[in-house]
Amino acid sequence: MQLSYWELQYFINNSDLLVIGSGIVGLNAAISYKRKNPKANVLVVERGILPSGASTKNAGFACFGSVSELVDDFEKMDESLVWETVELRYKGLLRLKSILGEKAMDYKPLGGFEVFDNEKDFESCASRINEFNLSAHRITKLKETYKVNKRKIASSGFKGFKYCIENVAEGQINTGIMMRNLIQLAQSMGVLILNNMHVSKINDSGSQVHVLLTDGTEVKTKRIIIATNGFAKELMKIKDVAPARAQVIITEPIPDLKIKGAFHYQQGYYYFRNIDGRVLFGGGRNLDFKTEETTELGLTKVIQGSLESILKNQILPNTKYKIEHRWSGIMGVGSEKRPIVKHVSPNVVCAVRMGGMGVAIGSLVGEMAVVEILKG
Ligand SMILES: Cc1cc2nc3c(=O)[nH]c(=O)nc-3n(C[C@H](O)[C@H](O)[C@H](O)COP(=O)(O)OP(=O)(O)OC[C@H]3O[C@@H](n4cnc5c(N)ncnc54)[C@H](O)[C@@H]3O)c2cc1C
Repeated sequence: MQLSYWELQYFINNSDLLVIGSGIVGLNAAISYKRKNPKANVLVVERGILPSGASTKNAGFACFGSVSELVDDFEKMDESLVWETVELRYKGLLRLKSILGEKAMDYKPLGGFEVFDNEKDFESCASRINEFNLSAHRITKLKETYKVNKRKIASSGFKGFKYCIENVAEGQINTGIMMRNLIQLAQSMGVLILNNMHVSKINDSGSQVHVLLTDGTEVKTKRIIIATNGFAKELMKIKDVAPARAQVIITEPIPDLKIKGAFHYQQGYYYFRNIDGRVLFGGGRNLDFKTEETTELGLTKVIQGSLESILKNQILPNTKYKIEHRWSGIMGVGSEKRPIVKHVSPNVVCAVRMGGMGVAIGSLVGEMAVVEILKG
């Protein structure tokens, strides 16, 4: 593309920081950098007309760990690392609230509920509640973060789910409202966000970083934060970050909907919640990990079929409803749950691998990326 002197001088080049990706991490990185350096020229480039990964496509759970998820994590990770991740998520949510305010994300403290369809799984999780409450107390300051909830299943009208463990400190946000306000906050601070800018190559010469877009445009900047999460491998050599597609359905509004809160099922592989009088339901990636390891948005019969069947038979039995809309988003996952924030060259830092918890940790990870880039 042939650009004018003005475009090159005042839009494209001369940024002190270029952030690649306008998801929750990229926007928080831009905001944090601007807070530390109000006069800095900060440019965010995004390949889509909107953020096009996970941040405007997620379920909006403000969650930091269900009991079965923690049990599963304990089998794969060091105990201290598991609680470190829980703390990062809890503090990240507090941080997001302090940056935007609860109203600007439509935060609702309705609780998180893990539902079980069999006694064995429930008992093995319920037996860990006291131990988890003791460790969680340091983070949430609550005596009982987790507790068995005997009323929720019946009051929600479920069928097939028999037991429930509540996380009283969890809540939910309106993802659309939160992301619009985050974009507006960044812009109000003077951050320039340009869409349809798809980065294909980065070359750090040491004194400057040269960026090539897929349309041939060249961009020059002083430093870069790569916040492309599930697309990380397209721009740099990095191990242990893979794309993971997640599919979602949403119903039309349902009169007198009984379901309230953020629900987890099968170690969090399925999740559903109320929003605007509707049920939003996502997950099922565990049915077909291989196909879902993709950066392509899309829906598959196997996962859509499973979502439809659980919705009809277990979540909304005896209820008339229509599925109004379906979509997917791309997460960045790895063998570990911790995000990766590190230098990839002298002037380039990456902040990727948010897993299924970027709403919770995105704000802090954006800030961590800025601390890392300022180390030089
Ligand atoms: C369906 C679904 C449900 C989820 N539910 C929850 C939930 O309830 N709670 C929770 O905490 N987390 C949830 N997550 C995860 C959460 O949404 C993510 O962890 C978080 O949004 C990641 O933010 P990010 O900024 O790192 O990445 P993204 O939001 O993916 O942002 C990366 C951006 O980089 C852009 N990009 C990529 N490559 C390039 C390039 N070469 N040039 C320019 N731009 C580029 C992409 O278009 C994208 O906009 C869910 C995710 C999905 C998909």
